[in-house]
Amino acid sequence: MTTTPTDRELFWADAVAASLPRDVHHVIRDSKTPSGPVPISGLRGPVITDALYRAFREHGLDIRYVFTIDDFDPMDSASMKQQAGMAEQMGKPLFMIPSPEPGKDFARYHAERFLSTFERVGIHPQEIHWLRDLYGSGKLDKEIDLVLRNADVVRRVYAEVSNVQKDASWLPVWVICENCGRIGTTHASDFDAAAVTAGGSRRSKGTRSCPGTSSGARCGTSST
Ligand SMILES: [Zn+2]
Repeated sequence: MTTTPTDRELFWADAVAASLPRDVHHVIRDSKTPSGPVPISGLRGPVITDALYRAFREHGLDIRYVFTIDDFDPMDSASMKQQAGMAEQMGKPLFMIPSPEPGKDFARYHAERFLSTFERVGIHPQEIHWLRDLYGSGKLDKEIDLVLRNADVVRRVYAEVSNVQKDASWLPVWVICENCGRIGTTHASDFDAAAVTAGGSRRSKGTRSCPGTSSGARCGTSST
């Protein structure tokens, strides 16, 4: 026997839409880190956000659907590390790693393959944002400055929400090492609005030692 949704039994996306204020602009956003081939289950997020986007529009809400490619994230995929030539790429930003296909980088190659499936299942974000463009153009400078100036608040949120204790010198930023081009090896400790001082000691999982210094274990001074 099928049932028709009543006011008390709305379709979940309609229930969310009905709970939102109608007099403000809404943004629904999803993102993907292109760290390798994306399995079919990777569409779960876009399918859910698209269902919400459609419901919001049907309810007359002012809504924008944004999809972000996190192509600035460092490579830390354990399965990719096993592949030929990938071990030396660990810790580098995904958009700076060579592609399996000439003319593209690793992040663009995998992100474009993933995004091409959207059309076939009828998912249409209004805007696709690439982090390389947002960071590179300086569009996020104001927000980066804000979190750096309030690093103590970010550390407190980590402790309260995730039960993760960051030491007092930890800053909520990753910098790219000038020597080896890696992100995960570099520990940012001080900043003066334009530059972040970095002395390496932290290592992200799967990252090899910095090959650009004689000790091999520490990254040099770098800046954003
Ligand atoms: Zn380095």
